[in-house]
Parts: sequence; C-alpha cells; structure tokens
Amino acid sequence: MYALNNKIALLTKHEKEVQIAPVFARHWPGDIEVNSTFDTDTLGSFDNTVARTLSPIECALKKANLACELTGLSQGLGSEGSFTGYAGIGNMNEEFLAFVDRATGIEVIGVYRQMTPLAPVIANDEIELKTTLSQYSNKQGWMLVENSGESEHIIEKGLIGIKQITYAAGHKFPISITPDFRAMMCPERQKNIAKTAENLLEKLCSPCPNCNSPGFVFDQAEQGLPCELCGAPTNQVLYRSAVCKQCGHTEKQQVTETTASSYYCNICNP
Ligand SMILES: [Zn+2]
Ligand SMILES: [Zn+2]
Repeated sequence: MYALNNKIALLTKHEKEVQIAPVFARHWPGDIEVNSTFDTDTLGSFDNTVARTLSPIECALKKANLACELTGLSQGLGSEGSFTGYAGIGNMNEEFLAFVDRATGIEVIGVYRQMTPLAPVIANDEIELKTTLSQYSNKQGWMLVENSGESEHIIEKGLIGIKQITYAAGHKFPISITPDFRAMMCPERQKNIAKTAENLLEKLCSPCPNCNSPGFVFDQAEQGLPCELCGAPTNQVLYRSAVCKQCGHTEKQQVTETTASSYYCNICNP
C-alpha cells in the first residue's frame, strides 16, 4: 500500500465522501478531510450552464490539487464523472477519482465505467410519469426542463418523486424531465463512485516492481488471441499489460486461454 498520510483532503460539494470514505476506511485508518468551500461546478456542471473545458481526468486532478491547496494537506482526492448518451440504450457513466501527493508528485487515477438506463422523460399525464419513474430508484433526482424550439433550459433541479416534479411544473402536462446526475441526487452514480474508489485503492496497493510507484495494474488489453481452427489472430485478448507511469517499466500477462473460439475469427466466421 502506498504510504498514505493520516489525513487526505477531498474536494466536493456533492457529498461524495459518503461513497469514498468507507472504501478508504477498509484499507487505511486515517481521515478524509472534506473541503466544500470551492464551487466545483465552476469547472463544469451537469446542467450545462457551465461548459466543461477540461477532460474528466484533468478535472479530477485539478480538484485533487485544489483540495490540497485549500486544506494545506499534501495528499488530495478529486472526483469527476461524465455521462455519454446512447440513443435507446441509456447513458454511459464514466467515473474518475484522482489521488495526488504533492510531496512526491505521484498521481493515481481510479476509473469505473457502467451503463445506466437513466434517460430524459417526457410524460403526457401523471400515470405515464408514474410508470416511467417506477423503473428507477425513488431516490433519483430530476431536473424539470422547458423545451423551447431547439434549445432546452432547466427550470428546477433536485426534484425527487412525482409530487415535487408535478408541483414544480405547475401540474401542467406534458412534463419534460431529465436525470439530475449530481452525486447526491443519483444513487446509481453513488454506487459507481464507490467502485471507482475501490479501483483507486487497488492501484494504491499495487506498486511498480522496478520503482515502487503505485498504480502498477494490468489494465491494458492487447487483442490477437489465435483462432482455434486456423490460427489467425482474433479480436479476443491475447495478453494484458501493466505500464508504470513513473519509470515506464512494463510487464505482460498472458491470458490463460491459448486459442480463441472460431466464432471470433474473421476467416472461419466472416
Ligand atoms: Zn516504475
Ligand atoms: Zn479461424
């Protein structure tokens, strides 16, 4: 395990410590010091009122560094998530949790990806609204939106349950709502943030055999496992590799299978 200090700073105003701190507590006896004085939404927000200029990883690192600056601690955490819509399937939630140690320059990023069926809803009456919302957690927050021509704007955020939504809409249908993806409003995201913290801890517990820097995990896959019938390379994984970000040390791990099913072969199963 990487040498964690007794205190690590976390920058969040969306209560992400609720998901992150218990995961750390299983591996480390220290404290997470939450700082919520910085408005993280100024780095980009889910209602698109503030455009995102940084990539999610850059943003997570920026928050981790800000956490250190605001608390005076040398180790900090910053979390950032994104949602990418796929029509008819839902949204891909990609979560990142950055750890920085400003004393050593070490940066480690926890990553987790998960599809969610959460998507915008247009309901023509209360029954339709009820039926659609029943597919999701009753703790999921929603934003009431107004579609005017091609643009849409958000009227109210953080609405939970049919009563709050219909009240905010003045009981007028159709009602158009979109998921509120802020961490404290989105139970699915909360689960994914906890998984991201687990991934970060796994990396903090995986030192490079050459330079001892954390984050040495076999997370890069190389395709090309040979077909069982003709031996041609397929798109199945041939080996996984770990690359140290600090010293470049690389190791490869063969998968246990030696051949791929001909099902995946472009020659045998075009
Ligand atoms: Zn190394
Ligand atoms: Zn083949």
